[in-house]
Amino acid sequence: MRPFLLAAFTLLTAGPLRAQPSAPAPPALLLRPAAVFDGQTLHPGWAVLTEGDKIKVVGSAAQLTAPAGTRTLELPGLTLVPGLIEGHSHLLLHPYNETSWNDQVLLESEALRVARATAHARATLAAGFTTARDLGSEGAGYADVGLKQAIDRGLIPGPRLLVATRALVATGSYGPKLSADIEVPQGAQEADGVDGLLRAVREQIGKGADIIKVYADYRWGPNEPSRPTFSQDELHLIVQTARSAGRPVVAHAGTPEGMRRATLAGVQTIEHGDGGTLEIFKLMKQRGVALCPTVAAGDAVAQYRGWQKGTGPEPERIQQKRLSMKAALQSGVELAIGGDVGVFTHGDNLREAELLVREYGLTSLQALRGLTSTNARLFQLPDRGQLKPGLLADMVAVSGDPTQDISALRQVKLVVKGGMVVDK
Ligand SMILES: [Zn+2]
Repeated sequence: MRPFLLAAFTLLTAGPLRAQPSAPAPPALLLRPAAVFDGQTLHPGWAVLTEGDKIKVVGSAAQLTAPAGTRTLELPGLTLVPGLIEGHSHLLLHPYNETSWNDQVLLESEALRVARATAHARATLAAGFTTARDLGSEGAGYADVGLKQAIDRGLIPGPRLLVATRALVATGSYGPKLSADIEVPQGAQEADGVDGLLRAVREQIGKGADIIKVYADYRWGPNEPSRPTFSQDELHLIVQTARSAGRPVVAHAGTPEGMRRATLAGVQTIEHGDGGTLEIFKLMKQRGVALCPTVAAGDAVAQYRGWQKGTGPEPERIQQKRLSMKAALQSGVELAIGGDVGVFTHGDNLREAELLVREYGLTSLQALRGLTSTNARLFQLPDRGQLKPGLLADMVAVSGDPTQDISALRQVKLVVKGGMVVDK
């Protein structure tokens, strides 16, 4: 083989994802806040020691000795919490009151969308969210996979991403929809039936999907309610195909029937669930399916449509959401916390947890556990969400006590990701 060919061959066989020569391990950090929230409980007087990108010791500051060369960060008055986990983001979207979803999908180039997404990723991390489940590129193909690679390689700041790539919709069920005579790019991949779905699921996984997202119901036409899309058999097939490749499936669903089918198929979470009934939520609980209610998205969209929150009458959709959330809480279904951020501003991720506390009856402690240890458990991420030896050194220091007031999480003073202090 000639040298050039040999070099090209070596590049190919090295694989596109082979890591670059890695940076030296970060120096050990000793963080000395007023208190440590370990994912479950607040511990005043505790400190955390890191080694490389992991946590080495968590415990009483008085008994914690750091090895020579450790960098000590004094954090008086601050609470140290695990890096927050966003349950439902779209880094490739920006708020719909800036540009409608249709126009983002149809009129914005992928380069523009990716450039925006880099800013969104930075804002997300700066807000203390060190992990995000990014649930669909909404017409931007596999751009989320590249974004994730750029973050992992340290080229741009951002959270650790779990990406869903294109997402799956039944043919004809999604959008944008223009005239019936015009084929336009869709916000997700259309696939149907045994062969079509097997191929689409495997294709997405092969191109980098960590998660398969499926739309179990949607509006078939512009002015009608959502109705189921995929059949029960199709949903089963999607879940089985993804599961055999070690990927969970998440379902967009808001109708009782769409939610029921997705639950019986064995999805990990149901996103939105606006029309959920007590019976459906009980079924989800029984089958170990969590609800990610995305209350912030509905709240934002209602305001974009003219709702004067606090003064004007509540739109019917919001009233319906309050009823379904009451049923969800009554059923005991597990709640993942994710706001569908992208519909509203990236970096304002905390909005979901704040609304759940202020308007939907969660305590601040429940919401804080939700954003950390509960999201990690529900998303099967045992390496994060708590401050324990051996876990990733992803941490956020905030003013005040977020176990008492979730809004304290807005006062981010320090973000550490993988043992490295994130520059602001
Ligand atoms: Zn979404």
